[in-house]
Amino acid sequence: MAEVTLERVCKTYAGGVRALRDFSLTVPNGQLVVLLGPSGCGKTTALRLIAGLDRVSSGVVRIGGQVVNETPPHLRDVAMVLQEDSVYPHLTVRQNLALGLRLRRQWSPAARPWRWLLSAEYRRRARAERAHIETRVREAAEALGIGALLRRYPAALSGGQRQRVAVGRAVVRQPAVFLLDEPLASLEARLREELRRELRSLQQRLGVATLYVTHDQEEAMTLADRLAVMCAGAVRQVAAPLHVYDHPADRDVAGLVGSPPINLLEARLAVEDGACRVYVDEAAFDLPASLRDALTPRAGERLTLGVRPDALRPAAVDAGPAICAVVHGVETLGDRVQVIADAPRLPRLVCRWERGGVVRPGEAIRLVPDLARAHYFAADTGRNLLAH
Ligand code: ATP
Repeated sequence: MAEVTLERVCKTYAGGVRALRDFSLTVPNGQLVVLLGPSGCGKTTALRLIAGLDRVSSGVVRIGGQVVNETPPHLRDVAMVLQEDSVYPHLTVRQNLALGLRLRRQWSPAARPWRWLLSAEYRRRARAERAHIETRVREAAEALGIGALLRRYPAALSGGQRQRVAVGRAVVRQPAVFLLDEPLASLEARLREELRRELRSLQQRLGVATLYVTHDQEEAMTLADRLAVMCAGAVRQVAAPLHVYDHPADRDVAGLVGSPPINLLEARLAVEDGACRVYVDEAAFDLPASLRDALTPRAGERLTLGVRPDALRPAAVDAGPAICAVVHGVETLGDRVQVIADAPRLPRLVCRWERGGVVRPGEAIRLVPDLARAHYFAADTGRNLLAH
């Protein structure tokens, strides 16, 4: 078990692609950190640098306090699981699980191997090792729900079972660090949820520092002790998942965390007749008293208003100012509906409401943002004006 730290790491691939720029992140011992970011932002590169599969261009990678920039992969005590990890087709599940431990055997002498192989000491050690490996294999297989499949070959397993074997292989080794690169992405939704729970409890039980890459919002929110949001090769924010959701550091982070994505609307702040208002296109909404002190000094500035889909509410015709829009589509999601609407001069709007009144495509609706729950970003830098 060991803490992993990357300090101002840069990685430029041959051909000049700058995959990481001043990338800094700590995965504390025993914690699960989820790395979230758009495709191509450098998530896999970060994992490969920790595993030692690529070399950093500059910066420092530490595992357990030791600088490992020059340490070869097999000496880093790191296990990595990929999206569709390969299992060896000619080995049974038991042999696949045991392989990592067998390859790590450290007690065979290089000199005079034949004499050693015939010795009683060799037989004693081999027996002890077999028992030890069998215990580890059984424990991991039971924890991952593949205890009954140990004699099968991979061809006789479902995709989900094969992925469990791949995860199991990493678990059996009991490494100091787990690196998981979208390990559940290829699985069907229900199976993914189930395996996610098992992975989480296994990781907590083993207390291994884990860096987990995913595109799946739900996975990121439910798994992470800490969520690290990446953009263009650098970490923008690291915090507890709910903190990132409630207090995104900037506009890009807000756009990446939350599903469906937040509505980002150009807006303007104005003080008129003693009241501080937010203008979205031509509709002016009074700021709630709780935000006046923080935002009144910015009167006259342009900003981006971030409104989560459930904070964009329908309003009655005579209920004061509202964004006038036309319903483009309605998607029913069981207990809630998702309404997609178009308003002139605004990007397409997404709302999520409890199932209730019926709206139909083509219908005119009036929408009001819940300003107490909205986020306010500087138009130029994208910084959250209320971040703390
Ligand atoms: P995804 O979510 O799509 O898997 P990612 O965030 O994991 O993407 P990386 O795979 O780390 O992104 O790639 C980051 C950038 O580095 C991309 O622009 C990619 O094209 C580039 N890249 C990755 N590997 C190499 C390589 N071996 N040689 C050159 N460029 C590379």
